[in-house]
Amino acid sequence: MRFDIISVLPGLLESPFAHSILQRAQKKGIAEIVVHNLRDYASNKQKSVDDYPYGGGSGMVMSIEPFAKCIEALKAERDYDEVIFMSPDGVTLNQTIANELSSKGNVIILCGHYKGIDQRIRDLFVTRELSIGDYVLSGGELPAAVLVDAIVRLIPGVLNDETSALSDSFQGELLDAPIYTRPADWKGHKVPEVLLSGHEAKINEWRHEQALIRTRSRRPDLLED
Ligand code: SAH
Repeated sequence: MRFDIISVLPGLLESPFAHSILQRAQKKGIAEIVVHNLRDYASNKQKSVDDYPYGGGSGMVMSIEPFAKCIEALKAERDYDEVIFMSPDGVTLNQTIANELSSKGNVIILCGHYKGIDQRIRDLFVTRELSIGDYVLSGGELPAAVLVDAIVRLIPGVLNDETSALSDSFQGELLDAPIYTRPADWKGHKVPEVLLSGHEAKINEWRHEQALIRTRSRRPDLLED
C-alpha cells in the first residue's frame, strides 16, 4: 500500500514512520510512505501556501493552487483509491474504517494547517474526510501519522504474529483483556494464577471473561451494537 502525504511541515512526519512496526513495514516493501512538501508546489516567489480568508475573520486559509498541483502531479503518476483530508469535522476514525482502508492500494492524505484549507479543495479532490477525535490540533500531520499507523499494522505481513492485531481492542466487540509479563510476583502483587497454569482453554476462557468485564464497565456501548 502506498501513502502520499501532502504537508506544509514535512519535518513533523519524519520520526513517526522511522521506527518500529511502520519502519519494518516499509523495509519489507509492504508499505510505502512518501511525504510531499506543499511549498514545492507554490508558484509565487515567497513560496507561500496560504492567504487571508475571504469575508474576513481570524486565521489564514491554505490556498487551492499548491494542493491542486501536487494532487494532479501524483494522479498523473498512478491511480489513487482515496484522497483523504484530515479534519476535525470529518468522520471520526475507528477500527472499522482502518480495516476498510487497509485493503486499499494508493491513497493521498492532505494535512491542513492554520485555519484550514480552501473549501474548493475539499469539494473538488477529497473523497473522504477523517477526524481523529473531537478536539482541534494545530495541523493534520499528527492525525495523518495516527491514520497511517492504524492502517499499516493491519496489512497482512506487517505484524510478526498475525493474530495479535485480531485480538486487539475494537477488532471484535470486546476490549482487550488485561496482560502481564514477568515477574509473576512484584512486591506481593501477583499475576492471576490461571495465566501461569499452562492450561490454554482455561486461559482463553479467563481472557474472554476479563474482556467482557472490562468492556461492560468501560465501553458498554460496544456491547449494545
Ligand atoms: N478551523 C478548523 C480547524 C483547523 S485546525 C475547524 O474548526 O474545524 C488545522 C488543521 O489541523 C485542520 O485543517 C486539520 O487538517 C488538522 N486537524 C486539527 N484537528 C484535527 C482532528 N481532530 N482530526 C484531524 N485533523 C485535525
